[in-house]
Amino acid sequence: MHEQAATSAIPADTITAAPPSGTSADEERLRLVVEAAPSAMIMVNEHGVIVLVNSECERLFGYGRAELLGQPIEMLIPQRFRAHHERYRGAFLASPDTRAMGAGRELFGRRKDGDEVPIEIGLNPLRTDEGLFVLASVIDITERLNAERMARVAQANTLRLSILDSLPFSIIATDTDGLILAVNPAAERLTGYSKQELIGRSSLIMHKVEELEKRAAELTQESGHLVPANFQVIVTSGSHNPVDEGEWTYVRKDGEQVPVNLAITALRDQAGQVNGFLKVAYDITLRKRAEAYIQHLAHHDSLTGLPNRTLLLDRLQMAIRLAQRHGARIAVLMIDLDQFKRINDSLGHLVGDQLLLTVAKRLEARVRKIDTVARLGGDEFIVLLTEVVDCESLVPLIGALTRTITTPMLLGEHELVITPSIGGCLYPDDGEDPITLLKNADVAMYYAKMTGRSNFKWFTQLMLREPEEKLALSTALRRAIARNELDVHFQPVVSLKNGRVVGVEALVRWSSDTDGPIPPDRFVPIAEESGLIAELGERVLRTACFHGAAVNRRLGRELFVAVNVSPRQFHHHNNLIDTVKRALKDSGLKPEYLELEITEGVLMENPEGAIDMLRTIREMGAAVVVDDFGTGYSSLSYLTRFPVDKIKIDRSFVRDLDIDAADAAVINAIIAMAHGLNIRAVAEGVETQQQRRYLYGRGCDQAQGFLYSPGVPADELLATIPQIEAMIGESAQP
Ligand code: C2E
Ligand code: CA
Ligand code: CA
Repeated sequence: MHEQAATSAIPADTITAAPPSGTSADEERLRLVVEAAPSAMIMVNEHGVIVLVNSECERLFGYGRAELLGQPIEMLIPQRFRAHHERYRGAFLASPDTRAMGAGRELFGRRKDGDEVPIEIGLNPLRTDEGLFVLASVIDITERLNAERMARVAQANTLRLSILDSLPFSIIATDTDGLILAVNPAAERLTGYSKQELIGRSSLIMHKVEELEKRAAELTQESGHLVPANFQVIVTSGSHNPVDEGEWTYVRKDGEQVPVNLAITALRDQAGQVNGFLKVAYDITLRKRAEAYIQHLAHHDSLTGLPNRTLLLDRLQMAIRLAQRHGARIAVLMIDLDQFKRINDSLGHLVGDQLLLTVAKRLEARVRKIDTVARLGGDEFIVLLTEVVDCESLVPLIGALTRTITTPMLLGEHELVITPSIGGCLYPDDGEDPITLLKNADVAMYYAKMTGRSNFKWFTQLMLREPEEKLALSTALRRAIARNELDVHFQPVVSLKNGRVVGVEALVRWSSDTDGPIPPDRFVPIAEESGLIAELGERVLRTACFHGAAVNRRLGRELFVAVNVSPRQFHHHNNLIDTVKRALKDSGLKPEYLELEITEGVLMENPEGAIDMLRTIREMGAAVVVDDFGTGYSSLSYLTRFPVDKIKIDRSFVRDLDIDAADAAVINAIIAMAHGLNIRAVAEGVETQQQRRYLYGRGCDQAQGFLYSPGVPADELLATIPQIEAMIGESAQP
């Protein structure tokens, strides 16, 4: 009856059905003993043939005695063990001893009805004259096994419970309506409620009402029928998964909110009916925080904390969708800081970073909550304005943004003034998708920058033709210079002290064959880029000197002639100095009546070189004027380092003088400081009496602007000058 051991083949003809024969008294005694044994007893001969059984055996295996006797013992063994058993029996007979079979391991007998019974067997060899017999006692261990299994189950349950208790997950068992039946300690810790407080209550007490309502609404939309915001919302997933996992917010007893990952498992009874749920939750605050952080990193600029390009594109997309629905407009303003790179390079990145931060804060303070200020990197900012009516309505805001940036800032020991170039475009007028809008705002900004500082430009489709136009323009310009078609006009400069014209500024003029007059703001940068500036500059300088000398001769008094020098020209020192010397010599203009206008940027790029250069110019007898003063680099204080004769207060300050107290303050400071350094101050872009009066009141030395005259051809100067002076006399000082 077993699954082990070696074999000895037994010839079939040696099998007998007889019990071991001795005296029949012995035989009978054995029979009685066997019958009286409490367990099933079977005796087999050495061929494995059953020779004796007791009634307990009949009962256990379900066979009658007659059916068993004379049969091979293997009939009581499940088919799958029979071969094994035969081999085992052979081995046992080869060295018989008393032993147990199957103790502690699974051993089965086979009943007549085919059922298998777990059994344990004791084997006793009986050596008689008639050979070797084996007496086996068989015990049915079904019950013992059951008991053992029960014990194991009980043990496993305790184990399971202690695991539940020590698990860091909050586990809450509910009935189908969400009434809490059981909780583990982690659930108490997570929710802040005690077990007593939880059991019997609805498990909705730890849920956020708004969240339930939101999910209910989502489910309603998904399913098409109304889903109320009750417990079913938590256990119903869209896919009707038995295990539904999702993120929820638990509201603790103290009101604090905890984001959790919640897995819902349906509990089923034996019939497979759902009779409750397990809510297994764990705190995902840390994960959320990490996610939020990563999210923030991915969407914000690390220096200023402003949205970055990625987030901006998202917001822009969203704004477009809204604007579409409401038929509204959006404005995209691209803001680029002039000369930022120079500040960064010369004053260091720390100052550069501070400056960007300051600009970021100032911009944010000026826009509405619904608008977005983003940083694209470098010194480029984007302001996204929603609910826009038209360009016109944005003029005050754009002015405010410009002013807030240009307000001087004190960064460490540096007082800096930075100016923006701003380009703007509108949705849907100038573009219908985020990329196009950003690109067009950029194009407009580029235009703003090209056309001078402190500038703003709205995008126009014409700007897109820029590259071709530029090429065409530089070709035409080259030809115009070669043919000597450039003209120079002269704008009178007036002394505010005595009301007399004291000088003129030479302004280059070009009227192209195809496009008519082109402003110098447009073609001078192109001349710089395409290497035409040296020639252009030389022509203007020589023309200015010749006309100046002629006018002075005819006027009988000496006016100074101011000539603009572009940065490129200035950088080629030797050329410039030579050109100036030759122009003075050839024209006969006295050096002390020549003024060279340079911009602040030129000084800052290479201060040492610039100082040498300025000295050389002054040694020749000519004067140095800093043009567009106040718009460039760091503020006033740098002036002390350079040998400068005059500063020209930029027309943007003069323009807003009437409306902006800040501009007035800047002008006051510039004039006061210039005078402190023995430098003259001239205001450009003076258009109104009011501006003139203000400048006069502040002691500004000279003024220039449309109030007096625009630039005029040299031959008109002789007529214009007396007119200007007459006009000044009439309006009377101040
Ligand atoms: P800028 O040196 O600041 O020249 C003054 C500009 O202001 C001139 O513009 C002039 O026409 C304009 N202006 C004068 N009075 C008023 C006024 O009352 N109101 C307003 N709104 N504007 C006034 P323009 O001639 O268009 O020149 C623009 C710029 O082009 C100049 O600015 C200068 O940077 C450059 N530029 C002009 N001529 C030359 C030149 O010969 N060489 C170089 N390198 N640059 C030149
Ligand atoms: Ca100038
Ligand atoms: Ca100027």
